Amino acid sequence: MEKINVLVVGNGGREHALVWKLAQSPWAKHIFVAPGNGGFSKLENVTSVPIGSSPSDFGSLVDFATKHNVGLVIPGPEQPLVDGITTWFQKAGIPVFGPSAKAARMEGSKTFSKDFMKKHNIPTARYENFTDYEAAKQYIANSSHNLVIKASGIAAGKGVLIPANKQEAYEAIKEIMVNKQFGSAGDEVVIEEFLEGDELSILCISDGYSFVDLPPAQDHKRIGDGDTGLNTGGMGAYSPAPIGTPSLLEKIRKNILKPTIDGMRKDGYPMVGCLFVGVMVTPDGDPKVLEYNVRFGDPETQTVLPLLKSDLLELMLATVEHRLDSVDFQVHADKYSTTVVVAAGGYPESYRKGDEITVKEPLPENTFIFHAGTKEENGKVVTAGGRVIAATAIADTLEEAVKKAYVGVDHISFKDKYNRTDIAHRAFKEKPKNKVSLTYE
Ligand code: AMP
Repeated sequence: MEKINVLVVGNGGREHALVWKLAQSPWAKHIFVAPGNGGFSKLENVTSVPIGSSPSDFGSLVDFATKHNVGLVIPGPEQPLVDGITTWFQKAGIPVFGPSAKAARMEGSKTFSKDFMKKHNIPTARYENFTDYEAAKQYIANSSHNLVIKASGIAAGKGVLIPANKQEAYEAIKEIMVNKQFGSAGDEVVIEEFLEGDELSILCISDGYSFVDLPPAQDHKRIGDGDTGLNTGGMGAYSPAPIGTPSLLEKIRKNILKPTIDGMRKDGYPMVGCLFVGVMVTPDGDPKVLEYNVRFGDPETQTVLPLLKSDLLELMLATVEHRLDSVDFQVHADKYSTTVVVAAGGYPESYRKGDEITVKEPLPENTFIFHAGTKEENGKVVTAGGRVIAATAIADTLEEAVKKAYVGVDHISFKDKYNRTDIAHRAFKEKPKNKVSLTYE
């Protein structure tokens, strides 16, 4: 094997964690990140490249990768995958760790992925797809179970509405289908059964034939302690989540991951890259798919990659060469990891940008800082987004990992910083499950 140059596409905490892990590989010559964020300038052998990832940038990305002899491209976010970035690089003969646009429909279209699950007998909530507003209304009128309403397309993580009663359900479909709250993402709608239980995030790497899965994680979507307040892109995560017992993981592999990887290949759009499955573990212990994502999750990637013992670059090269089963896949099975996201005060509503960020060095051992909404400006790193930066720590126990992650948070300073103070609380105490009292009659 020869050393290669790598191009990571994206600008979030996920991409920072990917670059951090790839940089540890003896096979990484130089890592480019387009466009990157404020976290890369101090890293040796890493260069940020000011190119975006919308379809109009694909040509420039391919030109850059060709000119700089890039041997592997890793698109971080979903949108460029859905927009077909993979084919652009493949046409130029450059391997891509990521699925084709056809395979990316598993994330890009919820109606598509629900039909896929039905066809392949993969456990998921009961559902119906709609393009017609009147038919959707009728379905709500006839339903007796609690519902979840989903815009089918990509809606920046906001297209899922959980109405508390029928009136709210009617309002939700009106917002999505008539008022086009999520634009064309709402042209099609999935109405499905509300599932109770605990959520688990599974990151699975597949070469289209075989797969390996990383330790299971739980994230915290709400802005406030105790899982209260508005939804966010994710305020923290921890792994391995204790509810992911060996027997549950076996069930997930057998009933969900394997049939998904096999089904995608048989249907002509193999999954090559990272399949990130959102699973609901129902009260009777059955795992059901909430959603598929066709890329690494954020913030779960910042949590789980530090638990990966294997060389990530080797793993990714084996993936794109469809020889994943030749890799000795190893995780730090005796370690726990916790990530705490630090946001700009006010997020997810309006918040300030442009405040200087400092990170006190040295950080404690096994504590890592991953930048997300940051950028460099006149030699300083400043806030540039809602979820600004995160601290991850690994340790021998989850309690210790949590404590250390918060020590990491204390090393981060900027005006009006905000973070949750209870990341991983679900692992420590019995708390109400995903149970809300809904009135459906
Ligand atoms: P999704 O993007 O489909 O994963 O939905 C986003 C979030 O909505 C999930 O992480 C769950 O918290 C919630 N959710 C989605 N579908 C359901 C469901 N059928 N039952 C209960 N909660 C759901």
